[in-house]
Amino acid sequence: MTLHVVLASHNAHKIAEFQKILGHDVPDIVIEAYDGPEPIEDGTSFDENALIKARAAAAHTGRVALADDSGISVGIMGGAPGIFSARWSGTREDADNRRLLLAQLADIRGANRAAQFHCSIAIVDPSTGSEQIARGEWPGSVALQETGENGFGYDPIFVPEGYSVSSAELPPDEKNEISHRARAFRAAAPILRGL
Ligand code: IMP
Repeated sequence: MTLHVVLASHNAHKIAEFQKILGHDVPDIVIEAYDGPEPIEDGTSFDENALIKARAAAAHTGRVALADDSGISVGIMGGAPGIFSARWSGTREDADNRRLLLAQLADIRGANRAAQFHCSIAIVDPSTGSEQIARGEWPGSVALQETGENGFGYDPIFVPEGYSVSSAELPPDEKNEISHRARAFRAAAPILRGL
């Protein structure tokens, strides 16, 4: 039986990416975009914000709903920017966010620049009330300067563990295989299969 789920995202790239990752592990899944009202993301963690979005989409559509929430966390900054990643500089501009983070870490060197991308995916089934979370982490460090043209957000200043280039220098297909989102979606596959 085909499992129809809605993904609480307006980003066509994300929907295609998720269909690709999940379609591989859950062959009978069809992911549709959710275009209903968007809730206020007033949670205090990636898990909570993902749940808020998935609950709203499940309530509005009556379907199994998925929502992701992601960001970058720098160890020496106590996990910031974290859930504030998209608006860290106050402007919601990726370039401003990167510039501010680089400035904040200007005097920090070596291993103390460790950081990770995090992705939480909430899965809400309105027919049973079940709420589950899948998570993915992508460890690395904050570079000293921007490099690369691919990706978005903090990619030009994030060097994944085991690499000497930024995630904006990786071919998109390679990033989409190993990123925090890919890891979280792989972790979501068994949950979806179990619904
Ligand atoms: P959201 O989960 O789509 O709201 O993403 C939150 C923010 O985290 C984005 O605006 C980016 O700044 C950052 N972010 C999340 N995933 C990535 C990524 O794969 N590369 C670079 N930045 C990311």
